[in-house]
Amino acid sequence: MIVTSLLISLALGQVEPTPYVRSRVEAGNTSSQCLFWTVPTIAWQNSSVGNPNTALEAQKQSEFEAIRRSFQSWQQLFESCGNLRFSEGPLVDDRKVGYELRGDNNRNLVLFRSKRCEEVVASSDACWVEDTCGNDHDCWDSDARTIALTLTTYDEKSGIIYDSDIQLNASGFVFTTVNTPPCIPPANGRDNSCVSTDLQNTMTHEIGHLIGLDHVPQDPGSVMFPRAPPGETSKRNIDEGSHQFVCEAYPKGQASQSCVTPSLGSSGNTTVLGKQAVGCSSSGAEAWLPAMVGWALLAWRRRRGGARS
Ligand SMILES: [Zn+2]
Repeated sequence: MIVTSLLISLALGQVEPTPYVRSRVEAGNTSSQCLFWTVPTIAWQNSSVGNPNTALEAQKQSEFEAIRRSFQSWQQLFESCGNLRFSEGPLVDDRKVGYELRGDNNRNLVLFRSKRCEEVVASSDACWVEDTCGNDHDCWDSDARTIALTLTTYDEKSGIIYDSDIQLNASGFVFTTVNTPPCIPPANGRDNSCVSTDLQNTMTHEIGHLIGLDHVPQDPGSVMFPRAPPGETSKRNIDEGSHQFVCEAYPKGQASQSCVTPSLGSSGNTTVLGKQAVGCSSSGAEAWLPAMVGWALLAWRRRRGGARS
């Protein structure tokens, strides 16, 4: 029976690695709508603070440059076969992630959080119940083993993305920008002379989430593989499968592609916003299970029309 089913799988092409996985309104449910942008330009901005752990101005600038290179890598793919572009706005003082319906202060923000909420917020603070500690106290409110978190807000009916913010966990990871060598031991990266958690590696992955890609847990060669061990820089280069996503979900000269019809122009008077926060873990093979559990717990969805978090 096993042999038979394997042969059927081979015949159906089911053992081929998945080139990419699109994010869905209901994460993992392939009958629910995909998340995608319909604007021609995604404007994004760096927080003016940069990495609070970085003292040297030159290093701060090198970090901003690494973030820009990550967007440029995707931009090159969109230029070859896609229909949108990225545009960087000026540095902003805003430290809040999320989206307000009809708000005038929304932006796609990239920021570092350098303090853990558990360490700076009293356990009695109402923000724990409201799930607003990160914004209220400018702290990392997620799992300590998570490198970065992309929070995407979208229309629950159409899957159209309104906003996506990327938070980098500088409270738990040393972000570096040099090309080589890997830090040995990994924790020695504080001076940025070796690769600890490569910023461009991390950002290239997170921007994949920002444009509507989910993790590809089966393919370590994908930029959307959910983990990145210390010293890794390979995700700076976007794999063919993720390139295929750009060409197919955002075809050049055409509208961005949904997965379920009807989608665009869906009827109804109320807009229901959905939010997804996807965390991306580090750690070596020995931490495989805890890392995956951490990721699963972080992939939640909330229905809170108009609320900001
Ligand atoms: Zn991820």
